[in-house]
Amino acid sequence: MIRQDFSRIDAKRKHADHRKKQFATPQYAALQYDTRLNFYTIPPTADITLEQFEQWAIDRLRVLAELEACSFRNKTPQETAAYMKPLLDKYLPLSGTSSGSSKLQEERMKDHYSHFILRLAFASTEDLRRRFSRVESMLFRLRFMENDIKERQLFVEGLNLEWDIVGKEEKMRWSEELRAAAGGPLVLRNVEDESWFKVDWERVPELVEGRRVFVRGGKAYVPGREQISMVVAEFTKRLDKALEMTSRALPRLDEDDRLTPILAHLSNNFTTPDASYSSSATSLPGADISARNIDNLSSSFPLCMQNLHRSLRRDAHLKHYGRLQYTLFLKGIGLNLEECLVFWRTAFSKITDDTFNKEYRYNVRHAYGDVGGDSNRRGNGYSPFSCQKILTEHPPGPGESHGCPYRHFSIDNLTALLQAVGVKDHEVLRGVKEDKEKMKFHMACNRVFEYAHKQEIKKVKEDGTWGAAELETIVHPNEYFKRSYLLKNLGKKEAASEDEERADVKMED
Ligand code: SF4
Repeated sequence: MIRQDFSRIDAKRKHADHRKKQFATPQYAALQYDTRLNFYTIPPTADITLEQFEQWAIDRLRVLAELEACSFRNKTPQETAAYMKPLLDKYLPLSGTSSGSSKLQEERMKDHYSHFILRLAFASTEDLRRRFSRVESMLFRLRFMENDIKERQLFVEGLNLEWDIVGKEEKMRWSEELRAAAGGPLVLRNVEDESWFKVDWERVPELVEGRRVFVRGGKAYVPGREQISMVVAEFTKRLDKALEMTSRALPRLDEDDRLTPILAHLSNNFTTPDASYSSSATSLPGADISARNIDNLSSSFPLCMQNLHRSLRRDAHLKHYGRLQYTLFLKGIGLNLEECLVFWRTAFSKITDDTFNKEYRYNVRHAYGDVGGDSNRRGNGYSPFSCQKILTEHPPGPGESHGCPYRHFSIDNLTALLQAVGVKDHEVLRGVKEDKEKMKFHMACNRVFEYAHKQEIKKVKEDGTWGAAELETIVHPNEYFKRSYLLKNLGKKEAASEDEERADVKMED
């Protein structure tokens, strides 16, 4: 009885305390980041805005997705570092302490917070945890490699990894053994120049197994250049453990209706990185984007849109979702509403004007935001679909042509379609098959893009007109078109600008 009374009163108190806590000034503070690298053992505690929460996570996600793409393409560590440099500088810069940058703390804070936000987003399933841990470890390794030696050493010492530094005297005592284990006199000329440390041999089984270390009294003597593998292994081990713990705490987050949708969106994005569409970013000034030119332009369309175009030409019809996916794409490449209506009207050649006006005209106008309300709130209609949307929403049923062929076609049908659009190289087709089996659909699409524009990409890379930012992984059909169009019209653009220059000179004369 007493217990009951007590618990009733306590419940009220709890409620009051909760409200009090909610409106109290948080006892949180920003951390001081002494080193550039971070093992992310301390969770962030300072306040950030919801916008920062989302934007920082999106920026990190971009970096991780590109890193993963590098590994899928079997890039060497050097190629990966060169490819990632401009992307890291843009989305997740992290200057060394010796740089004297005034943004050190800001950059480190973003790095710290974005890691923890993504940890929350990717802790939910085993697959996501595994992928996240893998790419985070890759990122850590990349940064570790480019850290200056002094800073790197300082960081490692601060980790308390229970390594004993081998002193000069001990090095000399075992110099022969150390030299032999480290690869002989040709590889290691001077034992003294190398920094060595001792660990319990069980912690480096692969080094012991490969006879790459000298073992004595249960301790393995590890040369400094093997340090990176050990530090990264430790990073991965701790991260895996932390992700497990985060996954157990996740259900408690369900109650937070501000964060849950953001986190869900982020983890979806990791399946296929999302891209928002911006008409200015995809516009092509001077290009002939008109109804009568769509057949020509279609050679620059990604496979999803080529498939829709081919089905439309074959059947003089497309079902609802196919029309919507294609209309929005055409709008995205810069086809205006009038031209789009002309395009659909002529394409649907087997129906009367009356039927077209009654059944189809409204939907096209609606997609452009010319009519309709609610979902058209912004007044300019729907945005063209990103790969993520096409890959994950509304899979096509029988008789429908929308979706992404890399995902929704059988491998035989996909191969036949690729061959029909000119992709006949066996290596490329084999790569596409592997990508599809691993469910890396947009990687298959990028593979085909690279194959179809091999010469042009080589040229822009060689003459330095396109950098890594222009050649980022494609995650939006409209970006595919824009990039393909620009690459295929490189010469024409130059010729056009030369013409313009000549005209300018004439006028000046
Ligand atoms: Fe289209 Fe994207 Fe699929 Fe490529 S990956 S075919 S652009 S949906």
